[in-house]
Amino acid sequence: MPQPIQHKETPRYEIVTNVNRRRILVVNEVIDIDREDGIEFEDFDAIFINVKGGLQESNMLAIRLASPLLSEKCRFKPCYVSSRLEKWMWKAEVITDGYARSPFDTRVAEGIEDIYINMRRLNFMLGTDPVMTHAEELFRLCRYAISRGNYTFSSHPTPGLSTGYMLLYYYTMWYENQELLQNDERTYFHNQLIKHGYIRRTRFLDRVHVCPHCHRSHLLFFESCPKCHSSNLRQEPIIHHFRCANVSPQSSYEWDGELKCPKCNRMLHHIGVDYDKPSTVYTCSECEHSFMYPDMRVTCTSSRKQLTTDELIPIDIEEYEFTPEGIKAFAANDIVRTINQVGFYGFSSMRDFEDYIREFARNEETSRDDVLIVIRFFVHDPVPDDVFLYDNVPPIVKAMRRFFNYKSAMWGNNYYFLHRVREGSIAIEQNHMEYELKSEMSDYQQVSPGFDFSLISSQVFHPNHDPDQFIETLEEDRH
Ligand SMILES: [Zn+2]
Ligand SMILES: [Zn+2]
Ligand SMILES: [Zn+2]
Repeated sequence: MPQPIQHKETPRYEIVTNVNRRRILVVNEVIDIDREDGIEFEDFDAIFINVKGGLQESNMLAIRLASPLLSEKCRFKPCYVSSRLEKWMWKAEVITDGYARSPFDTRVAEGIEDIYINMRRLNFMLGTDPVMTHAEELFRLCRYAISRGNYTFSSHPTPGLSTGYMLLYYYTMWYENQELLQNDERTYFHNQLIKHGYIRRTRFLDRVHVCPHCHRSHLLFFESCPKCHSSNLRQEPIIHHFRCANVSPQSSYEWDGELKCPKCNRMLHHIGVDYDKPSTVYTCSECEHSFMYPDMRVTCTSSRKQLTTDELIPIDIEEYEFTPEGIKAFAANDIVRTINQVGFYGFSSMRDFEDYIREFARNEETSRDDVLIVIRFFVHDPVPDDVFLYDNVPPIVKAMRRFFNYKSAMWGNNYYFLHRVREGSIAIEQNHMEYELKSEMSDYQQVSPGFDFSLISSQVFHPNHDPDQFIETLEEDRH
């Protein structure tokens, strides 16, 4: 009797055990692992991403939600991806430990052991607090690199990045523009690591040029006519006729398949005897202007600006590596105590928020054209306690996390947002910021019954003002 064909449904996820008794979480669908009740941190040692379909967006999301960097339940655990998805990972590539046909692949088994051996050797602290601030995101990124034995900041050319190079700090960048918005923070972080001796410069890699308007290297270069700027150029040799000393482009000599001098009308036969070709010349096919050296015209494909090469800004790409002290500090997670977090955007403590304003006023390097906009909201959110289970972060803060370039803090029912802008664009930026924040809170209100908010104030701080006086006004009527 033939058996009826069994249609077994693929579970959304399952935990399998490999040859070394390591438990591997196999993810078959896009699931938010941190919010999934049936899975705990202790339940598995590694992850295998096995989602179906070739949609880049959903692959990216699947690995983000199961990422050793971004998921609390998966943090630092080895993460392998199905070979089917190998060409579809895009930026997520950098947090993938490898590709395999199945979670039982022997290379996966070996890879998992290697990662755990390395972590043991470093006394690597696996369990750390949830990431909330941008600073913590960078700490975790460095810890991740160290857990994988990457002690040098890999700096290989990578498509899509503004300077064209992948630097360690960019690994968490998932959104367009995030890279440029958080540039100040990364510089601040980088300088602190150098100051503490956690990293050191190893070598100069390359000098690249970026657009002065948008700081990207997505540039097109055109050899162009100095007269009409067209790039429709042709290059041809110049012929020097010895006998009459005529010098002109080869095309002016061409006559019925032979060469005839346009000046003295004699035929030219032997190169080196009758004539030579001392150089080449460009001729514009649009305006027929001839010249020796074409101009270089540049178009930025991001900002659409027309530029000359002199206007481009040079940027040095340098390679850095973690020092033994740095590796030790990151592995033990001691870094949190030594690195100052004031200069980071994102959600922070109220104390860091206020110190940012003080440092902005005190810092000699602060541009006198910059000001701070501080917007204050009243918020009320009757959230049930179980929402705080995995991280001690109010859900409204999570909902507002897409504003990478604002520094924010909460004090009781007061929610503050800070943004650094140019003096000349205060009005536009202030309106934009108020609008953005209000609409995001309205969106959150739609899905959160009982949530309430109102705008209390919108203030501007100039670097020559007294920061403590300004901070006092922020704290008014807060209790
Ligand atoms: Zn021309
Ligand atoms: Zn001649
Ligand atoms: Zn540009």
